[in-house]
Amino acid sequence: MPQAATPLINHALPSYLDPHHLGPWGIYLQQVDRVTPYLGHLSRWVETLKRPKRALIVDVPIHLDDGTVAHFEGYRVQHNTSRGPGKGGVRFHQDVTLSEVMALSAWMSIKNAAVNVPYGGAKGGIRVNPKTLSLGELERLTRRYTSEIGLIIGPTKDIPAPDVNTNAQVMAWMMDTYSMNVGETATGVVTGKPVDLGGSLGRREATGRGVFTVGVEAAQRIGMPIEGARIAVQGFGNVGGIAGKLFAEAGARVVAVQDHGGSLVNDRGMDVPALLDHVARTGSVAGFAGAEVLDAGEFWSIPCDILIPAALEGQITAANAPKIQARMVIEGANGPTTPEADDILQERNILVLPDVIANAGGVTVSYFEWVQDFSSFFWTEDEINQRLVRVMKEAFTAVWQVAQDKGVSLRTATFIVACTRILHAREMRGLYP
Ligand code: GLU
Repeated sequence: MPQAATPLINHALPSYLDPHHLGPWGIYLQQVDRVTPYLGHLSRWVETLKRPKRALIVDVPIHLDDGTVAHFEGYRVQHNTSRGPGKGGVRFHQDVTLSEVMALSAWMSIKNAAVNVPYGGAKGGIRVNPKTLSLGELERLTRRYTSEIGLIIGPTKDIPAPDVNTNAQVMAWMMDTYSMNVGETATGVVTGKPVDLGGSLGRREATGRGVFTVGVEAAQRIGMPIEGARIAVQGFGNVGGIAGKLFAEAGARVVAVQDHGGSLVNDRGMDVPALLDHVARTGSVAGFAGAEVLDAGEFWSIPCDILIPAALEGQITAANAPKIQARMVIEGANGPTTPEADDILQERNILVLPDVIANAGGVTVSYFEWVQDFSSFFWTEDEINQRLVRVMKEAFTAVWQVAQDKGVSLRTATFIVACTRILHAREMRGLYP
């Protein structure tokens, strides 16, 4: 029997890129498929978006305080660098996988292009529950990870930032480790640093401020007053907590909150500064006196005007999307809505402001931080907030217009704007060699 020739090039996707394996990366691939018909002649380059440019898996061994050695798996993925260096956060979480980091890096490419900051997309992470580590162990983990990914990061190559369970202190350790290795203080290698170490005013609040800004823009367009609006927030940290505070200051009522510790409800609206204080002291909303305890599953069916998922991926699913009572969902988290849930919300006429535009405020101020570090000239908080609001409003207006013109969801519209920018840059640069 004649043998089939062994192909020299395997065009089949490696298993971890399999779109039927619907992890976060599979969800991202579906989103790319939805945008492809709208890309015109640039669709010939779309395969670029379906493969990360570069993915590094590193072993991160550290001495634990008890003298033993523990190994953790870390990643840094650069999805695309057509428009500039890689840019995106680093998360420390027990559920981190390569598929997740790949998807998050791709969403950074889309997000950075959507707000038109001159970056590609990247993301990193370590599979670890940082809450089980002492401060010393966390520092050693961060430093060893930074050293391992030091091969591919740098102020003009790829610039990490905070994400889930990482903060300004972690960024200070990353900046110091990289600087020690290269023999100079390289503040521009990470953003989200402490303000005294080349960090930017307004960076910590930037993602929440961006969520609020696009929320107000969208509310105006659908004729929903913010004054008196009922808000439900999942995740009450840097993103959800700040967004909740800004909405409350604008006259809205935060009626329900949920985080890893518990769920709360208060129909009259919670005292948000007191709740933020409680979270800062205890690490969770659980035990806050100014609200009643709510069953976790009930959170999704609370009648509200605006629902803000600001925790992790895959929270709004085909199971809870039919129960959602909101008029608008603002995705503070990355990837909180599954594609099936997205369709259900659209059918039910619930407006979704997608992550790739709604939470882009953080990376926008990261860009300002990086520019300030390079010029060693620092702006006032007012200047930063004004520029942030301008970028978010302009980006949102452009996306809204595309959604209207083409009759597509805001997510597909954002992908149309962003993928066109990325693939146009890709085409102009040409294929090397
Ligand atoms: N981790 C944030 C995000 O998902 C910020 C990334 C950055 O500032 O580079 O957008």
